[in-house]
Amino acid sequence: MTTPVYQNFINGHFLKNQSGETFAVKNPATDDVIYYVEVADAFIQNAAIQSAKQGFAAWSTMSPIERSRILLKAVALLRERNDLLAKIEVLDTGKPWQEAECVDVQTGADVIEYFAGLAPAQVGQQQMVGEDFYYTRKEPLGICAGIGAWNYPLQIACWKSGPALAAGNAFIFKPSEETPLGAIKLAEIFIEAGVPAGVFNVVQGAAEVGQWLTQSADIEKVSFTGEVGTGKKVVASAAGSLKDVTMELGGKSPLLVFDDADISQAVSAAMLGNFYTQGEICTNCTRIYVHKNVYQQFIDELKTRTEENIIAGDPLDPNVNFGALISKKHQQLVMSYIDKGISEGATLLTGGKTLSPASAPNGYFVAPTVFIDCTDDMTIVKEEIFGPVMSVLTFDDEDDVIRRANDTHLGLAAGVFTKDIKRAHRVIHQLQAGICWINSYGNSPAEMPVGGYKQSGIGRENGIETLDHYTQTKSIYVGMTNIESPF
Ligand code: NAD
Repeated sequence: MTTPVYQNFINGHFLKNQSGETFAVKNPATDDVIYYVEVADAFIQNAAIQSAKQGFAAWSTMSPIERSRILLKAVALLRERNDLLAKIEVLDTGKPWQEAECVDVQTGADVIEYFAGLAPAQVGQQQMVGEDFYYTRKEPLGICAGIGAWNYPLQIACWKSGPALAAGNAFIFKPSEETPLGAIKLAEIFIEAGVPAGVFNVVQGAAEVGQWLTQSADIEKVSFTGEVGTGKKVVASAAGSLKDVTMELGGKSPLLVFDDADISQAVSAAMLGNFYTQGEICTNCTRIYVHKNVYQQFIDELKTRTEENIIAGDPLDPNVNFGALISKKHQQLVMSYIDKGISEGATLLTGGKTLSPASAPNGYFVAPTVFIDCTDDMTIVKEEIFGPVMSVLTFDDEDDVIRRANDTHLGLAAGVFTKDIKRAHRVIHQLQAGICWINSYGNSPAEMPVGGYKQSGIGRENGIETLDHYTQTKSIYVGMTNIESPF
């Protein structure tokens, strides 16, 4: 059987590049090349811009309610094709089918549905100024670009394109070179639903194609999801044409477990916030601060549940709840952090090794890993690992743990477990993070704005305010009186 080769998706169809350059995509659970993808060369890049200009002209002049109807058709198609799309996500990312089947496509569809609903409700203002008045219009920005990470490929494409398209923009999306197929399927669905050609183009490639997007003077905004270091490069490059930016970057988020917390619930949150999607989630609570009075109980239950309930293996097996990391390189990076944890004096409670499960012996697995006896200055406590590695620390003073939790340049997420309602709010209000949970962890519904404080991001995705990030306000002053002129 020949291995498929996917072209870039431009102006409503696949378009062959001229350079002939391709890259391979591997299934992280098998180490097999599953398909090839053509790189977006200069010919494709130019075609993407020309087609987006035409797409924008058609789409931005439709009424918001027309756009809304079309987007809702795309939502229905996404839901109809859930299993097919979820399987693509499993093969590309190595995450368990168990998750992809009920989360990845659904949460992507939810966000497009949410913004499709909001689009017709976005209104300008009108105000009298003496006898004159002004009014404002919310106009789309033009051509916007999205650059995605590999952990939730289709969901990221939906979370970026949903508000962008609802507001009337055209969009050029570059998925991660590790997981390029989901975005193509979304592009096909948009066309099938009736989105005009050119409104959503997909360009493929790695950093170079991303750099082109951030530099292009034809693009008004870039919405980026990825590492902090890459985000800084994107912002610097976007500054050359004064683009608007949304940055969804990394984190090293704290979870504070007080001594009155429901400990089983807190363990559930810690496990979800470190082992779901094999730890490759930006909001993960990789620093768990546990009150000294409940520390032993917490780590005893954590160890038992981690060792007994996590099933690593072929991610397509519905019983498997723990998949493979995205690449061999990433597996090695995560293992190098584990080695640092050991050499810097942390104690392994469990895990700390690669896995080779019988059903997926060549996959890039790392065992769910918990370090105890951690201190705030350890590398594993300070740096984002983006794998299944949890660091547990202890505390006995509220003010002190808040200070320690905030002692980082990152500020994506945070959580608190306590039954004391006053403490819950008092503590969470002091934590420097954009996405916070009380007695919960990880849920991110379409309605709730998400984004980072400090170096974890700029701007927000989801929630009503995101529509503002994809529109610009035009003020129109209307003279009802004669102009008084000194000339
Ligand atoms: P990455 O920064 O390596 O790559 C992200 C994207 O940027 C890819 O598409 C890549 O091709 C592209 N890229 C690389 N160099 C570029 C450049 N110079 N200019 C423009 N584009 C460039 O990140 P990753 O490894 O794909 O993803 C993991 C990271 O993403 C983690 O740090 C994680 O925390 C973060 N993340 C954040 C969120 C969030 O919402 N805050 C969500 C998911 C992932």
